[in-house]
Amino acid sequence: KPKVIVMGRSNVGKSTFVKSMTADKTIRVGKKPGVTLKIAEYDMGNYYLVDLPGFGYMEGIDQKGQEEIKDNIIRYVEDNQRTIATAIQILDAKSFVEIVQRWEETRELPIDLEMADFLEELDLKPIYVINKMDKIKNSQWDEELDVISEKLGFLPPWRQWIDILAPAILKEGLGLEEIGERIKNNVKQYYDDLR
Ligand code: GDP
Repeated sequence: KPKVIVMGRSNVGKSTFVKSMTADKTIRVGKKPGVTLKIAEYDMGNYYLVDLPGFGYMEGIDQKGQEEIKDNIIRYVEDNQRTIATAIQILDAKSFVEIVQRWEETRELPIDLEMADFLEELDLKPIYVINKMDKIKNSQWDEELDVISEKLGFLPPWRQWIDILAPAILKEGLGLEEIGERIKNNVKQYYDDLR
């Protein structure tokens, strides 16, 4: 059974996403306890949903701890590469743009982009969930999504990348259906490729 991994900087809404996806219909099949790497797997029927730890800045975790979490995530993804049908990376619409702008000034690659590059490199069929769109004025959605699309390396207009970019307001459940649809397609593709 393939895996669908869920990752993102801490506080982007990853737990909110995993909770809505797994609400009461699934059993958690494995939670490996560890100091820095807690991985929860949920049986979703024809795939496992894998909740990877949040990365980047977190209160109470120093630079070394952050590096360790990142290394663990990378190792997990590399070790499981062949069974990963798709990788979901969740971004915070508003802070992502700020983070990338800061990067353009300081030249220090933000972890979100580093992870995105890594997923593309391994050809893990990433889906980018652009969460917290409620923080963006409705009239500015297209403009903001074009900027995010470009920062991720996808030439605007963002709608060209509708299979890859999924705007969402996860706390209201908005976008979940579309994300579910994309997961379904990528899982199907995974099974087709096996044949
Ligand atoms: P995690 O650290 O990535 O697991 O993030 P959580 O799911 O715990 O969410 C972090 C915070 O973001 C919480 O306060 C959520 O209520 C909030 N949040 C989640 N989704 C949304 C959203 O769509 N819009 C807004 N404005 N806040 C959200």
